[in-house]
Amino acid sequence: MVRLVLILGDQLSLDLASLRAADKEHDIIVMAEVASEATYVRHHPKKIAFIFSSMRKFAAALKTDGWKVLYSQLDDTQNAGSIPAELLRRAQESGAKEVIATRPGEWRLIEALEGTPLQVYLLEDDRFLATHAEFEAWAEGRKALRMEYFYRDMRRKTGLLMEDGKPAQGQWNFDHDNRKAAPKDVSYSGPLSFEPDAITKDVLDLVAASFGDHFGTLENFNFATTRAEALQALEHFITHALLRFGDFQDAMLSENKFLYHAVISPYLNAGLLGPLEICQAAEKAHKDGHAPINAVEGFIRQIIGWREYVRGIYFLEGPDYTRRNALGHHRDLPTLYWGAETKMHCLSKSVAQTRDEAYAHHIQRLMVTGNFALLSGINPEQVHEWYLEVYADAFEWVEAPNTIGMSQFADGGIIASKPYVSSGAYINRMSDYCKSCHYAVKDKTGETACPFNVLYWDFLIRHEDRFLNNPRMGNMYRTWNRMDETHRATVLQDAAIFLEKLDAGEAV
Ligand SMILES: Cc1cc2nc3c(=O)[nH]c(=O)nc-3n(C[C@H](O)[C@H](O)[C@H](O)COP(=O)(O)OP(=O)(O)OC[C@H]3O[C@@H](n4cnc5c(N)ncnc54)[C@H](O)[C@@H]3O)c2cc1C
Ligand code: SF4
Repeated sequence: MVRLVLILGDQLSLDLASLRAADKEHDIIVMAEVASEATYVRHHPKKIAFIFSSMRKFAAALKTDGWKVLYSQLDDTQNAGSIPAELLRRAQESGAKEVIATRPGEWRLIEALEGTPLQVYLLEDDRFLATHAEFEAWAEGRKALRMEYFYRDMRRKTGLLMEDGKPAQGQWNFDHDNRKAAPKDVSYSGPLSFEPDAITKDVLDLVAASFGDHFGTLENFNFATTRAEALQALEHFITHALLRFGDFQDAMLSENKFLYHAVISPYLNAGLLGPLEICQAAEKAHKDGHAPINAVEGFIRQIIGWREYVRGIYFLEGPDYTRRNALGHHRDLPTLYWGAETKMHCLSKSVAQTRDEAYAHHIQRLMVTGNFALLSGINPEQVHEWYLEVYADAFEWVEAPNTIGMSQFADGGIIASKPYVSSGAYINRMSDYCKSCHYAVKDKTGETACPFNVLYWDFLIRHEDRFLNNPRMGNMYRTWNRMDETHRATVLQDAAIFLEKLDAGEAV
């Protein structure tokens, strides 16, 4: 009996569960570029191009390997426009009644596949280090699901940076050696770029014609689109940047978009690279004396710790997670997130870089765009959709917990024990943005005051009932209470004026 084997755009791994379960002789692989996946949120054109081009090359590699592949290009006249509709069409064509697929990383698509009239078998996606069952067992009965403890279990499980059952150099976490302020010069020229080949050029034309009105530019498309290229990008990072990754992990520079970051998340999330091979390459660099422990431990923690942990939370919490709004925030996402003029240099730069590269590093996402949305009380579902649209690495299982949980505290504190908020002082310490800003980071009130300075206090006071007794936030409230009463009133008034202008669509 013929079965269809569905492979999605973020499942481009040769060791995929559904490929392992399939029979090369009889089964038929189905891959489809569909409009509904590109537009259910309006994804960045570079993200769509990266996925379509990588899919085409992956399909070609499967064919070379002897698989039968039915591949639908977006502009095929028969293309039915959605994953379930394409499966039905291919089932009718081939007479197949059954489909095997690796479980998608998004509730929306899981539900869509389960709703098709075909018999669909969903296999566990085992390209991760922790299964759902393992994460559930870890979470069971715990009062707080803190990433650090989960991460230690993952270290034990993988043996990464472990010596005789103990953490290498006697510590689990070397973050106190990281997070240095922005360097004056960056000795790294950034991630490896790849010139578009004929396949990518065709895809770029197609994407420009079909999705050219989405936010984001297609110019200078330079992502890797095959596993071989992604491996080169990884090696380039390990050889040239890992050494300083830890030191400048949280730094931001106006004229340097990547600093010492890996820019491998699109490749990892689409399946061109695997988490363990990346971490083993980093560990080897340390063992060979090419990278210090603080850099390597910090890097490995992001992948076997944060990445696995947020996935666990997404599936543990269920399909309503993206609609959580614990702080009751309802303001619409301001147009500055779509590139409208803003006088705030940090936001202007972070959004412009996002438009151009479909990339911003973690601290730009968390402490600039995320911090501003949280302080201003933006509806978290709209914030979530923005992050899902604009980044090439954004797939819901990883984007939603980072946005809803870590960045917007909309899950009420499952991921973050306190909200990630800061005044302008943090951004000033970690970047060079403030030097070129219309606002003055040192001004606490008045027209020239950095908006983060007034919004920070406004946020804390709005949510005093919730946060006053949070042991990690007591200091903030004590500082506020020590301020002169007139000053406090001015701060709150300035925040209200600023938010009124924001609502009125003024360039703030
Ligand atoms: C609001 C918000 C939204 C985010 N959305 C996404 C997203 O859609 N997809 C995504 O992959 N990451 C997301 N992140 C996490 C992080 O910002 C990106 O993984 C990172 O910026 C990717 O760039 P890089 O490869 O240069 O990472 P590096 O800084 O070089 O880190 C190495 C790798 O660690 C992993 N990693 C680091 N931090 C995290 C994290 N918090 N969660 C999961 N993995 C992590 C990534 O795979 C990354 O490639 C988000 C963070 C925030 C605050
Ligand atoms: S002064 Fe404030 S708004 Fe301007 S760049 Fe600094 S933190 Fe951003």
